Amino acid sequence: PKYSTFAAVENPETPVKVNYTQLLIDGKFVDSVSGKTFATYDPRTGDEIAHVAEGDAEDINRAVVAARKAFDEGPWPKMTAYERSMVLFRFADLIDKHAEELAALETWNNGKTYEQASKAELPMISRLIRYYAGWADKIHGLTAPADSAHAVQTIHEPIGVAGQIIPWNFPLLMFAWKVAPALACGNTIVLKTAEQTPLSALYAAKLLHEAGLPSGVLNVVSGFGPTAGAALASHMDVDKLAFTGSTQTGKIVLELAAKSNLKPVTLELGGKSPFIVCKDADIDTAVELAHFALFFNQGQCCCAGSRTYVHESVYDEFVQKAKERALKRTVGDPFKAGIEQGPQIDSEQFEKILRYIRSGVDNGATLETGGERLGDKGYYIQPTVFSNVKEDMLIAQDEIFGPVQSILKFKDIDEVVRRANNTSYGLAAGVFTKDIDTANTLTRALRVGTVWVNCYDVFDAAIPFGGYKMSGQGREKGIHCLSNYLQVKAVVTPLKNPAW
Ligand code: NAD
Repeated sequence: PKYSTFAAVENPETPVKVNYTQLLIDGKFVDSVSGKTFATYDPRTGDEIAHVAEGDAEDINRAVVAARKAFDEGPWPKMTAYERSMVLFRFADLIDKHAEELAALETWNNGKTYEQASKAELPMISRLIRYYAGWADKIHGLTAPADSAHAVQTIHEPIGVAGQIIPWNFPLLMFAWKVAPALACGNTIVLKTAEQTPLSALYAAKLLHEAGLPSGVLNVVSGFGPTAGAALASHMDVDKLAFTGSTQTGKIVLELAAKSNLKPVTLELGGKSPFIVCKDADIDTAVELAHFALFFNQGQCCCAGSRTYVHESVYDEFVQKAKERALKRTVGDPFKAGIEQGPQIDSEQFEKILRYIRSGVDNGATLETGGERLGDKGYYIQPTVFSNVKEDMLIAQDEIFGPVQSILKFKDIDEVVRRANNTSYGLAAGVFTKDIDTANTLTRALRVGTVWVNCYDVFDAAIPFGGYKMSGQGREKGIHCLSNYLQVKAVVTPLKNPAW
């Protein structure tokens, strides 16, 4: 068949039915207080998919009131941890059951390939939910020794109402990364989706209620950043804020949190991650992985390997092969089987990426291939490769968030460490070498939250993810994320008979 085997994709114009477009507050789908709606689009064409309720400060407030009540009056934080874990396990099963519709919504609203959404992201999502479901009944405190005659124990309690703001590049994956650990720890949530991609989170939230989540525990508000997002970040009754998006907006929400009630904030922000190919690397594998590291998800990844550093002795061969690989990349309707690259998310990102490409040309980088839009409809951009990129060029410094690979040349390890670290970001890095000493040196010297050695974008649930420097604060996934959603209470009682 022309389209993948997914039955609902028989008609690619409207691949799946859109069932949920309202705000989800206190367990019910409701209109916004203002009655306003906004359109959400199909990046393949720029056509409208649906109108969704537009939440702003009043709706955020309603959602926070519901989340507060659900936290204070229960039953969620007071349920046994085992009961909470079972809700999450059932949720994961429902995600698997509805994976095709969810993947279709994700592709339709975001432009990522259906193959990626259905084969890579949806399985990763249910796996992550099960991972945190497994943690729910394994969270416990310590008894600590005291120098005086006191018994000391720690109790790990949920923080309370968590505010969560997510971006558009992985709408459902980011939903899962935020919601699963917060719920496992017993918190209640108000989550704001990105204005570009409101649809899949509403569907998933509905499934979570089907799995047995009590009303008010998870509230989902669609809306814009400066209105709904800012209201959430500055709300006095939100106890914790988790944000993923740009560094610029991360600074804003941190300030709003500080100016309101000093709620603790975790931030997953931008990056300009180096991908370092040493002289002894397997070149064909490195070319393929460097291509994947940059072009995956249309280049719209915070951890995209967007500075490809290649040793001078293999530089020309690498550039030639990277160009050939980019020329082979299949770009087109993301619902079609065999397509590797769909459209960019929206006209704003599309224009921004084309401006960066022009700046690369103007600044003297060599355009090996690509550089133009593809077709005359939607937001498709040709896979683009620049060689002879210099450190001070904009394309080597800014997060482009698009299908633009920049290849730089280096001479020795000390130099590449210095250059790789010479950025305000510190999210991730790729290291390609067969030499254990080179690998050890680089993994320790790079100031980043993740180093992938001879691999890239490996995202198992237990692997912590987060940034050094201006790429963020805190870690998500893994055991580390639990502490973002827990308070530690020390309980001290006198011992009548310390000898015992
Ligand atoms: P953004 O940071 O503006 O948006 C992310 C989220 O923050 C969205 O939900 C948005 O509504 C919300 N937001 C925006 N302004 C806000 C405010 N004043 N208060 C509270 N919330 C607010 O990102 P964007 O505009 O969608 O994309 C711009 C750039 O950000 C991209 O080009 C890319 O460089 C980067 N980005 C990074 C990631 C990531 O995963 N790290 C994801 C998306 C975008």
